[in-house]
Amino acid sequence: MKSEDLRIEQLEQEIEDKKREIKRLQAENIHLQETVRGLDSEAHKFKDLVYSSKFLFAIFMGENHVIDIANESIKEVWGKGDDVIGKPLLEVLPELKGQGIKELLDNVYHTGESYHADEVPIELVIKGKPELRYFDFTYQPQKNTKGEIIGVADIATDVTKQALLNKKIKKSEREFRKLVNFMPHKISLANAEGDTIFYNQNWLDYVGKDLEDFIGEPWTNILHPDEKEEVEQVVAECLTEGKNLDKEIRLRDRNGDYKWHICRATAVKNDEGEITSWISSSTEIQNLKIEEKRNEDFLKLISHELKTPVTSIKGYVQLLLSLLPADNKEVDKKLIMKPYLNRIETQVERLIRLISEMLDMSRIEQNELDLKKEQFNLNQHAEEIIEDLTYSNKDIQLELENNFNCNVVADKDRIGQVLINFVTNAVKYSPTGNLVQIKIHRHNSEMAAVTVKDFGIGIEEKEQTQIFKRFYRISGEKADTYAGFGIGLFLSKEIIERHNGKIFVKSEVGKGSEFTFTIPLNHT
Ligand code: ADP
Repeated sequence: MKSEDLRIEQLEQEIEDKKREIKRLQAENIHLQETVRGLDSEAHKFKDLVYSSKFLFAIFMGENHVIDIANESIKEVWGKGDDVIGKPLLEVLPELKGQGIKELLDNVYHTGESYHADEVPIELVIKGKPELRYFDFTYQPQKNTKGEIIGVADIATDVTKQALLNKKIKKSEREFRKLVNFMPHKISLANAEGDTIFYNQNWLDYVGKDLEDFIGEPWTNILHPDEKEEVEQVVAECLTEGKNLDKEIRLRDRNGDYKWHICRATAVKNDEGEITSWISSSTEIQNLKIEEKRNEDFLKLISHELKTPVTSIKGYVQLLLSLLPADNKEVDKKLIMKPYLNRIETQVERLIRLISEMLDMSRIEQNELDLKKEQFNLNQHAEEIIEDLTYSNKDIQLELENNFNCNVVADKDRIGQVLINFVTNAVKYSPTGNLVQIKIHRHNSEMAAVTVKDFGIGIEEKEQTQIFKRFYRISGEKADTYAGFGIGLFLSKEIIERHNGKIFVKSEVGKGSEFTFTIPLNHT
């Protein structure tokens, strides 16, 4: 009996243990069920994501790349309908043969190394029509729990639109490069800071360097030592102020010779108006310069040769005039030659002025215009000049206003020449006006200014910077009405700039012009 009781007790104990075990298993089961449910919903979400994704997604199983999964997007691109699962890829898309796709898949399947490529062109037959599409894609090996490769996943994006656009951009860039290399000019491109990032072939041929070497060195290395500092300063000014560059500059070629170029640069701006880059062109004008020099030398020679006879003509005319009785209307009537002699004198004076201008111009071109600086009173000098001019311009009133009395250290004759040029122009270009106002005033603490104002024909805004160029005359019907050679203002500008002053104009067509030059004050 005892042993039977013991046995029952044992059995009851075992039943208790089993019950506990069952409870534990039940709890574990519940937990597992929850996990499975969770995984199920994760898988669902994943499946949803994959199937509804815009990404092209497929999994190919085994050696034959049998389609195991293919989302809607990839089926759409394949254009072979819905019935593709379970079939080898090359059977569904026979057009892939010979396009290297099978080889890529084989390689990923056998080596386990994933593969990525961008903008790959693939010919597909979509809904019966052959089409060239471009894809970014990744082939990823798929492994089982033991780590063995069982297939390849294909994750791709159709980038046809982007690729076609890129191709267009590349094509237009190629055309642009070709054009730029074809041009006889030296073309370069620099970033907003002015560092060059591209030189065309002409540039490279000129300096005898390849792109990398030439970009690697500052372009200012090929400037002529006489101009280097000045050009660097002008370029720096353009860069900070966003101004265009337009300058004649000597550039060293592959043989070490310096040749004249006309160099231009202009800023490229974005929609916000910020400078993004600079385009520059340099055109060789060496032959033109040689020709120009020959002409200048010829002009200089002629002017020299003419100056002596013309000056002596003037001398003889003045001698003849001095032999005649002084102004007397009654007597003058009988002396028929007197008015003719007076006219000869005026014409000869014009001729002498022109010859002197020609000579000055060639002196400027050849850097031979020496300034004989001395200290003088600007107001007094202006008064004397205006007095002389009043004498020869009796029909017009020249009004001098001294707002500021000052001494300057300058070339007295040259400054006088500028003032004479301003006033004679003011008179010449005021066919109906009868007043010219000359004003001496203070420009700032360092500079005095002389302004000549007329009420004549005026100058269009676009011409206002041009008129200071050599031989520049405003064209139009009226051009021939006013005699001149377009040298006066060029000379005036050179003279004033050589005195560290500035020259400028304000004008309105039909209302008149106001020419000003500034000159440093002598404070001592
Ligand atoms: P020019 O001998 O032709 O007068 P300048 O160099 O003195 O040569 O002047 C250049 C051009 O500028 C002139 O041809 C004229 O068209 C214009 N110009 C100069 N001064 C005036 C002015 N006061 N009013 C209008 N136009 C002027």
